[in-house]
Amino acid sequence: MPSYTWRSIWNAKWVLHLGGLWRIGNGRSISIKEDPWLPNQNGFRIWSTCSSFDSETRVEQLIDQETIRWREDIIRQNFYHFEAEQILNIPLDQNQQEDCYYWKKSKNGECEVKKAYHLIRSQPQNHAQSSNQEHQNRFPWKLLWNTKALNCTLNFTWRLLTSSLPTRINIQKRGITSTSLCPRCWRKEETEEHIFKDCTWTQRFWFASPFNLRTERAQNHPIGAWIEELLNQIRKGERGLFLECLHAIWWGRNKLIFEDKKIDIQELVNRATLRYQEFTVMSMPTENFTAEPPPGSRSLMCWVPPEPNLFKLNVDAAISNEGANGGGAVIRNSEGEIMVAATWLFSTTSTIEAEATACLLGLNLALECCFFLFSLRRR
Ligand SMILES: [Zn+2]
Repeated sequence: MPSYTWRSIWNAKWVLHLGGLWRIGNGRSISIKEDPWLPNQNGFRIWSTCSSFDSETRVEQLIDQETIRWREDIIRQNFYHFEAEQILNIPLDQNQQEDCYYWKKSKNGECEVKKAYHLIRSQPQNHAQSSNQEHQNRFPWKLLWNTKALNCTLNFTWRLLTSSLPTRINIQKRGITSTSLCPRCWRKEETEEHIFKDCTWTQRFWFASPFNLRTERAQNHPIGAWIEELLNQIRKGERGLFLECLHAIWWGRNKLIFEDKKIDIQELVNRATLRYQEFTVMSMPTENFTAEPPPGSRSLMCWVPPEPNLFKLNVDAAISNEGANGGGAVIRNSEGEIMVAATWLFSTTSTIEAEATACLLGLNLALECCFFLFSLRRR
């Protein structure tokens, strides 16, 4: 566990995000789409969609490396007029030094406690009731509970629809002082509507998802109404996949906030699809599988259910002669119903290491899916 001081510093890093800005040198460290680098713009980040760039495209790409001038044609093609003008007016460093990150709110560029305090106080303290609240009371809950999906995903969606997720705006409503701004765009408050539907990042996610959704059209819809509408529109067999997509957005958001990891949109879409496929396979009627265990297998061992209200996590690993190792885990309730299951490929050198890796991955899976009370069995 990191020290109290370090944790406090880490928790306050959003203040640096609010007031911090990149000064352009050679442009190699600055992401055009993700980083703050426009000194005269609210939030310092670009607003243009720049669809021909991805999050890895650097400001360097906008600079002609021979003449050290802005590449005006590319800039005018990709940015809104007012942004293009701003960019072209930023002076370029002819010595092409490294980019540097500085604190915009003070003269010497260093973060000062007093200035940071004023900045925090100036953040919107909007405690307005979410429009979701009103919709909550009339959400057709049967529609949710009849959707075939992992129990943890159903549970997550229920928390989303009842405003129980610890979004930044919900945390602020409970009196904890922190920023309420979205950690992806730093432009709007992080409400359920913003995270799951309206953020420009989320709009790209939904467009890349198997549903090809254009969420710009649903900008004013409360989240509950929007989810209800989509669940009704989507074919029954794909509703669970839609919920997995919502879950993936939240998972990616937590990775960003708590581990500082930016997960690629495509990777999140793949994760949602894979989890849904695994669920569909696991929930097929068991007659479809051969009941006879392979000769010499130990699977004649009888599975004993956990006590009521507990879950049981079973893990196993296998080492093949070709060196391709893998493991699997399954979490079941006291009725023997499968809650979640997963398989992994990994490289280990010994059986014991493979077993330990499978145990670790299984425990991670359990925590990720919010199963805190369980017993663990290794085959
Ligand atoms: Zn956002």
